[in-house]
Amino acid sequence: MVCLLSLSVVAFWATITAELVSSAHAQEARLQLKNGGPPATPPGRIASPVRGTTYPASYFPNTELLNADEMRITALGTGMPNQTRAAVSISYLVELGNGDSFLFDIGSGSMANLFSLRPDFSRLDKVFTSHLHIDHVGDFMGLHIGGWLSGRYTPIHFYGPSGSTPELGSKAFVEAMQKGYAWDLATRTGALPDKGAKIVVHEFDYMQENAVVYEKNGVTVRSWPAIHSLDGSVSYSLEWNGLKYVFGGDTYPNNWYIKYAKDADVASHECFLPPDELAKYFGWDLKQATYVATRIHTSPDAFGKVMSAIKPRLAVGYHSVQSPENNAAIMDGVRATYSGPLALARDLMVINVTKDDIIVRMATVDDYVLPPAVSEAYKNAPRTEEKSPSEKVEAGKWQGYTPPPMPE
Ligand SMILES: [Zn+2]
Ligand SMILES: [Zn+2]
Repeated sequence: MVCLLSLSVVAFWATITAELVSSAHAQEARLQLKNGGPPATPPGRIASPVRGTTYPASYFPNTELLNADEMRITALGTGMPNQTRAAVSISYLVELGNGDSFLFDIGSGSMANLFSLRPDFSRLDKVFTSHLHIDHVGDFMGLHIGGWLSGRYTPIHFYGPSGSTPELGSKAFVEAMQKGYAWDLATRTGALPDKGAKIVVHEFDYMQENAVVYEKNGVTVRSWPAIHSLDGSVSYSLEWNGLKYVFGGDTYPNNWYIKYAKDADVASHECFLPPDELAKYFGWDLKQATYVATRIHTSPDAFGKVMSAIKPRLAVGYHSVQSPENNAAIMDGVRATYSGPLALARDLMVINVTKDDIIVRMATVDDYVLPPAVSEAYKNAPRTEEKSPSEKVEAGKWQGYTPPPMPE
């Protein structure tokens, strides 16, 4: 009895969430309730647009309808390759008032934070990757397969740079991932919508300068080179409706960023640990830490100089380890060279951007969330035959159990 009740509650919540998500995209002012039923969400969790600057102190996913001229940027991961529960690897989600969604990087661990927002996965079909380090692409296959399970029934698009040789480029990376996950992909094909299995790679020249990578529905994404380890790291800008977000790839401070990140409303750029703190954090000697923090990456004082040069409406520093010991050193470094608006990003920090205001908050999410409900289009999308094991394996089925008949 208890179990049945729980299941019906789950089904109820799945239904109302589907309504929430779809109404959010339609920019409707109110949640439409079917059959005149009770309110679909607890008090304070009705999806509605925010007027003026009266944002709640926390961002509760799927409760705020974006206004038509509004951009919402969520830092899904802001940390290091050795991710922690407090800071997973790099990823940013950008949602626009026109209903479009974009992911910039999808580093290891970031999928859990993305999932905690219970997004409409049918719209999360494109990732723009800055470079092919695991802390920037490690959860790509998790997004591909997790999103395919949770509502995406069309191909996913991987936008990424070439490398100095073909085998170091995005195309080679995705092909290798598909080979490595051949068994996984083969088992799911048939059970899940066929088209959702496909990955489309859009590899572009890492040296292109402020050139268009993507242009659709009033949104333009451009790329330019970054300087990091080997050739093949890039930064991006996303422009829409007079707003500009810049996502800086891992880099030594570079001329291209100074030139093309100008006029950004929100400019994110790595802001690594200073050498002393990096040495302590990893237990490295100071020489190695200084090399990594100031030759491969951008230390806080250098980040501050970059931001003083481009003067964004909001500077966002990320790719760090924010701990009580480190925060002061990071902030001191930045503030030695930059006095403008600043947010040091943490996982699940949310930035709402309009022409008039920029609001920075943290999201409040549950550790346990249900998958977002899938659409009718997802359920009805063509599927080939489901796979099954060979006869010699099937022959090992225990006769002591008989499964229930398949529903019609
Ligand atoms: Zn990197
Ligand atoms: Zn990195």
